[in-house]
Amino acid sequence: MEINNELDFSHWGSKTLLLRLRRCPRAFYFAYHEPLRQAPPSPTRRVLWDIGREVGRLARTAAGPGEVVFGGRTRSFKQGKILTWDLIRKQAERIFEGVFQHDGIVVLPDILERRPDGGYRLIEVKATPGMRSRHLLDVAVQDEILRRCGVEVSAVEVWVINPSYVRGPKLNLRGLFRSFDVTEKVRRESFRKKVADLIEDGKAILQQPEPPAAELSSACYSPQRCEFFDWCWRAHRTHPAFQIPFLTLPQRMVMWNEDLDDPRRLQKPHALSDTQRLQWDYHQEGRLQLNVDRVAPLLDSITWPVGALDFEYYNLVIPLFEGTRPGDATPFLYAAAVQERPGGPMHTRRRLEMPPKTPGKAFIQEALQFLAPARSVIVFDKNAEQRILRQWAERYPDLGPAVENLIERMVDIQSIISPRGLYHPDLGNSRSLKAAVALFMKKDPYKALNVRDGFQAALQYYRMSEHPLSAAEKDRIAADLTEYCTMDARATLFLLNFARQQLQNALR
Ligand code: SF4
Repeated sequence: MEINNELDFSHWGSKTLLLRLRRCPRAFYFAYHEPLRQAPPSPTRRVLWDIGREVGRLARTAAGPGEVVFGGRTRSFKQGKILTWDLIRKQAERIFEGVFQHDGIVVLPDILERRPDGGYRLIEVKATPGMRSRHLLDVAVQDEILRRCGVEVSAVEVWVINPSYVRGPKLNLRGLFRSFDVTEKVRRESFRKKVADLIEDGKAILQQPEPPAAELSSACYSPQRCEFFDWCWRAHRTHPAFQIPFLTLPQRMVMWNEDLDDPRRLQKPHALSDTQRLQWDYHQEGRLQLNVDRVAPLLDSITWPVGALDFEYYNLVIPLFEGTRPGDATPFLYAAAVQERPGGPMHTRRRLEMPPKTPGKAFIQEALQFLAPARSVIVFDKNAEQRILRQWAERYPDLGPAVENLIERMVDIQSIISPRGLYHPDLGNSRSLKAAVALFMKKDPYKALNVRDGFQAALQYYRMSEHPLSAAEKDRIAADLTEYCTMDARATLFLLNFARQQLQNALR
């Protein structure tokens, strides 16, 4: 096998960069020419990357012993290429994260596995439950580059999370992954042409003296805000299409393309809704608004002492609890708080289920007892909380009356935050507790925490359960998790007290 791995050429692209080209040529250009202009990844994005890395690690374990090149033996592309070439020459059984380069494009296949026919099986691992069409192009670019390098790839597979896998006492890695043989699909002439065109388009775009023109599209906002957004639109940041927080993407696009400065000029089907007209008025006033008729009845239905309850759920694609499937939501932590009188001191209780097992009777019994003195129990989005409580009532019928009693006392205060309730124009269309509390407190109480969202909490819980951490590290994570969940319960009570205060001010 002759290897062509271009040791001495620098690269202009990677699989990730090429896939970005499909999303937006301008973002692709910036990623190469202006990499330092991209915004740092959001905490949620970092968590997604961490989950992807963990799924990759599990897939390597499932595949069997092998060498991890990039991120294992080296963090240098150049060194990685030398090591990979060496492993190929030695006919290594498995190579993980090998480094290949051809015509300036670098790819790092998740798994290369030697087959009895002497060729390699190329495996791309995805942390998604089920196969997605976008995975095909991803693995096809790798297949193309490996073959251009002279590697004999005799099979191409995509491994995804098996959505019907049910966890037993231990994680069965072979059951967790489902493999799809896509050799035929990626070798189709039309598909290979698509990959070759993508590579040629990429080269041509990068050689242009100026970036492709900016186009406001869904790629700018989804699946998350483009990392070059601020840099890309810096000359137009004051245009109303970017400044008005409550617009939908199609409305922004019309405002930008038609250079409108007043959203009331939007025509059907993009005309402002009644709620948006209200938001526009509030936006111009630029201050907090309270609709007495909507907020007063809700607050009047709440009586002190008031309790607050919040659950954290584990719902990642790697099942942790026996009997659960990828993505199933299982509570592992709750925080409850009780306040005797408005603005008075708060008592809190929390419980973290360790080691992970389906939370039993004691988990909820303790919460029911703690919240018993509360005449109203406020939650933020009661559907999830009610569902969990009813599951316990079904499992432990003797808890049924106490659970039903708690549900009867439950008041969902999420609806307070809305343009027709308590609203600040900076909230845009957000109904998030964290966003509202940060705005109303004029500081973000979550900022100082090590765990700041539910997704991150679930990943930390997974780490403390499945990774060989020291007792001190597990204690630290446990403290971070309980602090975060308690903050949610406290924030719910803060929102209630803040709304009461605003209502009193409005009625004065
Ligand atoms: S903000 Fe939009 S147009 Fe600009 S680089 Fe990103 S995706 Fe492309």
